[in-house]
Amino acid sequence: MRPFTYQKAGSLSDAARLGAGSEQGQTDAPAQFLAGGTTVIDLMKLDVLRPGTLVDLNGLRAEHSAIDTGPAGLHLGAFVRMAEAAGHPYILRNYPVLAESLSLAASAQLRNMATLGGNVLQRTRCAYYRDPSWQACNKRTPGSGCAAIGGSNRNHAVLGTTPACISQYPGDFAVALVALEASIELSGPAGARHIAIEALHRRIADQPHIETTLQPGEIITGFLVPPGAWTRRSLYLKIRDRTSYEFAIASAAVALDLDGEVVRQARIGIGGAAYSPWRAHAAEQALTGKPLTEATAEHAAHVAFQGAVTHGGNDNKPELGRRTLVRALLQARGMEV
Ligand code: FAD
Ligand code: SF4
Repeated sequence: MRPFTYQKAGSLSDAARLGAGSEQGQTDAPAQFLAGGTTVIDLMKLDVLRPGTLVDLNGLRAEHSAIDTGPAGLHLGAFVRMAEAAGHPYILRNYPVLAESLSLAASAQLRNMATLGGNVLQRTRCAYYRDPSWQACNKRTPGSGCAAIGGSNRNHAVLGTTPACISQYPGDFAVALVALEASIELSGPAGARHIAIEALHRRIADQPHIETTLQPGEIITGFLVPPGAWTRRSLYLKIRDRTSYEFAIASAAVALDLDGEVVRQARIGIGGAAYSPWRAHAAEQALTGKPLTEATAEHAAHVAFQGAVTHGGNDNKPELGRRTLVRALLQARGMEV
């Protein structure tokens, strides 16, 4: 690991000032934030992230680690631990898709350490990105190429990719947040603002080294998940190579408002297949007003993966993703709410 300066932020203005040089996702960003440390420290040890300054945000934890509910919906502080949200009775009852996306992620030890803010900002698990002995990686070294195209790409994305990068967004929680139309609260040098979670990650891999729309020095302080008739009938289906401690090779976050068998509204997030946490708007539209049957679910899944681009090792992804979505939709239909 390279030498770096450790700084503690005691307030939001400290964080903004100390982090002002940071640009999320850039290898040579001069400052990186530290929350649970389960991504950022790993990547520093691997020499992928090389910040001159590590800004510890844990001094802000007391103010931004509550789970609250109210008319505006569910509010989650950015420093809530994954395990706490995953086991929270209100979330389990009213937003099961969120609880499942967290409890199916990582390991118990990691969930006890990692924060929700850090979780949505985790980096791709592309092996070429994580190993600097590979020179070609546009995400790590802009303009160097992409070793995964023509290389080992079984776990790479099929939606939202470009010839610049085909990496897959690895997280689960952000996929559920995208489906539920959550917003995030940000605080930075220019003050506070809210954006839709769907606007946080850049959706298309046109500038792979810039992963989010965060401004330099901006931090996430919380998440707001609005209420909706679909939140209770919701689930997260995660397909992976082994049943615990593994990233998704396909996943679907679904939330349904049904009138009998007919879909009043559907919300669908796709994971394990896309460059960013992916909302399948066209698939939602394809279901609206229709009875939810195997045939309509298959049609929606077909729509969700239209435009998928594969690269050899991941040729199975569109079919796997479609089957995952169909299964998730039919399972959600059968839920008691
Ligand atoms: P940190 O490592 O502290 O930070 C991560 C990034 O976010 C850094 O760039 C940091 O600068 C930035 N950051 C942190 N907090 C803020 C904030 N409030 N505002 C702005 N920037 C911030 N995840 C899954 O979803 N599913 C899995 O199956 C899964 N499996 C895993 C398996 C292993 C072996 C490991 C090591 C990780 C796995 N993870 C998985 C990823 C894990 O969930 C993340 O590492 C974790 O959630 C990151 O949270 P953290 O608080 O530790 O973030
Ligand atoms: Fe780098 Fe993206 Fe290519 Fe992986 S897929 S090697 S992260 S450019």
